[in-house]
Amino acid sequence: MNSPSPRRVSLSTQRHESDECGLRYVYAVLSRRAGGVSVGVNVSTNRACNWRCVYCQVPELIRGQSPAVDLAVLESELGSVLDAAASGALFAEAERNVARPPVVDIAFAGDGEPTTSPNFGDAVDVVARVLREKSLSVPVVLITNGSQVSHAATRDALARLSSHGGRVWFKFDRATPEAMALCNSTPLAPEKHLRRLRECSDVCPTWVQSCWFAIDGEAPSEREVSEWLSALESVVRDGAALRGVQLYSLARPSMQPEAPRLSSVDRPWLLALAARVEALGLSVSVA
Ligand code: SF4
Repeated sequence: MNSPSPRRVSLSTQRHESDECGLRYVYAVLSRRAGGVSVGVNVSTNRACNWRCVYCQVPELIRGQSPAVDLAVLESELGSVLDAAASGALFAEAERNVARPPVVDIAFAGDGEPTTSPNFGDAVDVVARVLREKSLSVPVVLITNGSQVSHAATRDALARLSSHGGRVWFKFDRATPEAMALCNSTPLAPEKHLRRLRECSDVCPTWVQSCWFAIDGEAPSEREVSEWLSALESVVRDGAALRGVQLYSLARPSMQPEAPRLSSVDRPWLLALAARVEALGLSVSVA
């Protein structure tokens, strides 16, 4: 297969769509905080997710599973983007001669839930192989809602990710059935989700990612917050080796019908929550 040539991207802190790079699966985004380019792998080319978080930024999101990945195309695209980042060809002319940002990680993150793809584990292996071929040692990150962790195939993929030095960002936004239904539009039992979190942390280094926001101008209630903190505490007490927790609010506008009702909580609110997470003995970052 011929190597695809990614179109140049003008770096910004916003995600570049993979089709903006002229590619099917691979895109690039500048992360000033991380100090370089995060290369994204979007296997959910059909914009399908089995959840529908009210803050989800995916336009025209549909319910469903991610399709099978064409592994040869993924391999070819990733190789091309990494080569173009190394040579500077990825970046717009104006940025090419300024300090060229390094690639800092590869993230499975995109327009749906990556682990619902039937050959997600093979896609993990492809990414690891390309990194080896390019002699590039950067973390491979999976951003997931964790819903598939109870499936043996997903745990196998997580173990493969771990063996390649990867890590997981596991979504855990709320801890009561009502709040989960409202936030993630999924009729999930919190205990079941916490069990998945434990299982995930057993096989791969795992961080919790949690989005906090106001609805109709009302910040989350103290009950919601304390239930979430108790659940986090219980999962650690039961042996989950969580590496940390990342708290964030609405970074980009929601593309869901609830968008007009949502607003960010302010940084002091997030920092106050961060202090309570830290008091549980967990390391925490606020995005
Ligand atoms: S899990 Fe991710 S992709 Fe799925 S609806 Fe939530 S934010 Fe969107």
